[in-house]
Amino acid sequence: MPTRALEAFLAEPRPTPFLVLDTGLVAQRYTELAAAFPGAEILYAVKACPEPEVLRTLAALGSGFDVAGAEEIALCLDAGADPARLCHGNPVRGPGAAAAVAAQGVRRFVTDSAEDLAGLPAGAEVLVRVLVADDGAATPFLGKFGATPAEAARLARGTAGVAFHAGSQQLRSAAFAEGVRVALRVAHAAGIARPVLDVGGGLPVRYRAEVPPLDAYAEAIHGAVAAAVTAGDVDGVRLILEPGRVLVAEAGVLRTTALRVSRRPGIDHRRWVYLDAGRYQGLAEAEGEAIDYPVRAPGRSGPPGPVVLAGPTCDGDDVLYRRKPYALPLDLAAGDAVDLLHAGAYTASYASVGFNGFGPLPVHVLNAT
Ligand SMILES: *Cc1c(COP(=O)(O)O)cnc(C)c1O
Repeated sequence: MPTRALEAFLAEPRPTPFLVLDTGLVAQRYTELAAAFPGAEILYAVKACPEPEVLRTLAALGSGFDVAGAEEIALCLDAGADPARLCHGNPVRGPGAAAAVAAQGVRRFVTDSAEDLAGLPAGAEVLVRVLVADDGAATPFLGKFGATPAEAARLARGTAGVAFHAGSQQLRSAAFAEGVRVALRVAHAAGIARPVLDVGGGLPVRYRAEVPPLDAYAEAIHGAVAAAVTAGDVDGVRLILEPGRVLVAEAGVLRTTALRVSRRPGIDHRRWVYLDAGRYQGLAEAEGEAIDYPVRAPGRSGPPGPVVLAGPTCDGDDVLYRRKPYALPLDLAAGDAVDLLHAGAYTASYASVGFNGFGPLPVHVLNAT
């Protein structure tokens, strides 16, 4: 449920749609994560929510950052981040990109191919990303990144360590144990006795369904590291986490207005509720209904009935949920507020610049530090 600060903000009428974020909750999640992984280095994955106040909050708590390029690096440096705590985690680098990143003061790079590795600057701290199983993730990578373990072991000779990402919103804590096992076998094969072990992002957030607790993930990761030490694969690791979603999702509410509530005789027994934000105004992760935000109509208290939720544009794909069952009060009417909760991750930064004349999504930030 939204914090008191969020509820107080939402109680005031304002033009919609907008995203409102409470950085106090971001700080709380960071502190919980740091407590579950003592000694680990935490690098916030900036793409999940690049709002400057969010970055400032995390930098002040000592977080590092996982960045994809010059713009994200500049945002982090402006927010007070130490360049030594930045990791260029996107192995897709065009000609000259690695040198430009290094010129901004970044020394740590994740790579996954011989072609990319050859272009990394001398003296860089290199981590090699291994392809691991990402089934169980709501938004898997489907093989876009990572080298096979055999190839990764070749690439990792003489580097600082290994990395993986078990897919975003990963509901199987065992996927992290499997990832650690594979990655540390790669480190062993590459002759790295005490590797940096970057376990990526993927920690899940409660949307409409419960998810396993953070402790289950901490036990899976720590247990697999201990087993690899016992097996003699490595002497120990320097652990890195790259959380995105888990730090920011619950801190955000996306306030929309119902533009139309329609019965659709002969087409659907459900009401169709057309909102003023859809796929192109920040709800890209509703694609395939992969992420199902909790919704509420704060001004109505009537009994609920089933709905299809759709966005405002003329695009046929701009329907948020028609397979997954959603319900809103039967007295919902055009002009009513509809909130999507836990919407702080992968929303505002995904909004189009103006498809069909809608967007981008305004963002308000509370408790700014
Ligand atoms: C997007 C991304 C993350 C964050 O993933 P979440 O699932 O949001 O935690 C971490 N590391 C890398 C390399 C990423 O691309």
